[in-house]
Amino acid sequence: MSDSPRQTRGTVYLVGAGPGDPALLTRRASELLSTVDVVAYDALITPAILTLVNPKAELLSVGYRGYGSSRLKHRMHPEVIDRALKGLNVVRLKSGDPWIFGRAGHECEELLENEIPFEVVPGITAALGAAAYAGFPLTHKDLSSDVVLTSGHDLRGEFHSNSDWNALARSAGTLAIYMAATKVRENCDRLMQMGRRPDTPAAIVAQGTQGRQRVITGTLTTLPDMVGVLDQKVPAVMMIGETIGLRDKFRWLERKPLHDLTLLLVRARQGHSKLAELMRGQGAELIEAPWITTHPLDQYSELDQAIHNLPRYHNVVFSCEGSVEHFMARLRMCGRDLRRLREVNFVTVGSAIVRQLEACGVTPDIVLTGHCLEAVTAQQSRLNCGKSLVVTSTRGRHKLHSFFETLQLAADFVDAYEYRVQFPNIPAPEVDFVLLPSSTSAALLLEGPWGETLRHRPMVALGPITQSTARDHGATQVYRTASDDIKAVLPLLCELKARTRDEAKP
Ligand code: SAH
Repeated sequence: MSDSPRQTRGTVYLVGAGPGDPALLTRRASELLSTVDVVAYDALITPAILTLVNPKAELLSVGYRGYGSSRLKHRMHPEVIDRALKGLNVVRLKSGDPWIFGRAGHECEELLENEIPFEVVPGITAALGAAAYAGFPLTHKDLSSDVVLTSGHDLRGEFHSNSDWNALARSAGTLAIYMAATKVRENCDRLMQMGRRPDTPAAIVAQGTQGRQRVITGTLTTLPDMVGVLDQKVPAVMMIGETIGLRDKFRWLERKPLHDLTLLLVRARQGHSKLAELMRGQGAELIEAPWITTHPLDQYSELDQAIHNLPRYHNVVFSCEGSVEHFMARLRMCGRDLRRLREVNFVTVGSAIVRQLEACGVTPDIVLTGHCLEAVTAQQSRLNCGKSLVVTSTRGRHKLHSFFETLQLAADFVDAYEYRVQFPNIPAPEVDFVLLPSSTSAALLLEGPWGETLRHRPMVALGPITQSTARDHGATQVYRTASDDIKAVLPLLCELKARTRDEAKP
């Protein structure tokens, strides 16, 4: 390969996705997922991670589940090579770390042969994630001074392993055996036959770091009889060594109330979600979808006209977060100055918009908070003094429009930006509960591509309007929080979780 590959080729990024929890992605991985043209991913990559991929990127499922897949005919997947040769930048997304049982060595050789430039982004390998989330250290001053990552699928001679199992059995260190879930007994027997003490602590961590993580602990003698309950299809790593005994003291994840729940939080707006932060903090695996993006409109004649006529309005109502940014940008384009608008009241719907307006040096005159209709009703007399200009988005009109109509408030509605909603191009994820923070989110989910699959899943709606919107759209199990406060979600989920676990008991 020449030192400077031909410029027409795209770059292939071999990116480690970690063991499943999206919070464990590196910053570099997140940045690439939101910018590249194509993401080619393995079967072990979870929906929680795939939902972080920029919806404009092509998502390619390149199928295989791990290093042991012997049926592969290729080194790098042909579709990845094809896209890179066409000049597209591709993330080859691999579970854990790409250099650890990830075949990345073979893949890089093929990239070199095709003169395709590549980069490698490390990830947290399964053993590190599993040990951290199961709650036992890998090394310990008094118990273990080394860690070996090896694979446990070479037992029947199908695969060749270079590990010296005699040495591994004699060692007192920690052993992480990948790809051993279907051969737990064989691996335990082999280690005992070669000299490891039968009472050595041993564990299986399945779906480590994910909402459905399962940890089974025993010893080399007892573990094989305990793992029958595990689904053989999920990834699991075997861990062997004295430090596993510390899990009884250190298991931190299981102390969190939502630790074994996978939740879908349906987003209706951009940016950070406090509810998401709260749920993650309580131990849930959280999938956030859809992607919401805002874009300037193709043409602004209507808004520009309204801006020219601003002094005729009594109120300017900012109905959604994007409305402030896009309105102010247009105001500048039109050469207008806020100082000239002394007579106009600035009204915001929701406290997030207050901050945005304040950042522009404007303190709102009226803040509508709480349930939309109630809020508008409460301020009816002030809003009724003259005509309002309601600045909104292409999708945001409907609800507010009907409230203004119901209350017979004079208003012109004008779009300031376009609001786009994109669900990831993957099947609806398997989740325990769907969280619907608003009526808009309920409609987005149930009218969207995942709606049909998820409408029978239990849902938690914030507030009565959200609940009835979900029901009107065909949802069959919608529970409502006791109040509109996001803090009310936790007790309800705990109650529902306890109920479903009780029902599942024989
Ligand atoms: N490159 C990956 C390993 C790929 S080989 C890494 O660094 O983690 C596939 C094996 O990884 C599976 O058979 C299983 O043993 C392990 N594995 C992957 N994800 C896992 C997870 N979330 N929990 C437990 N084991 C996992």
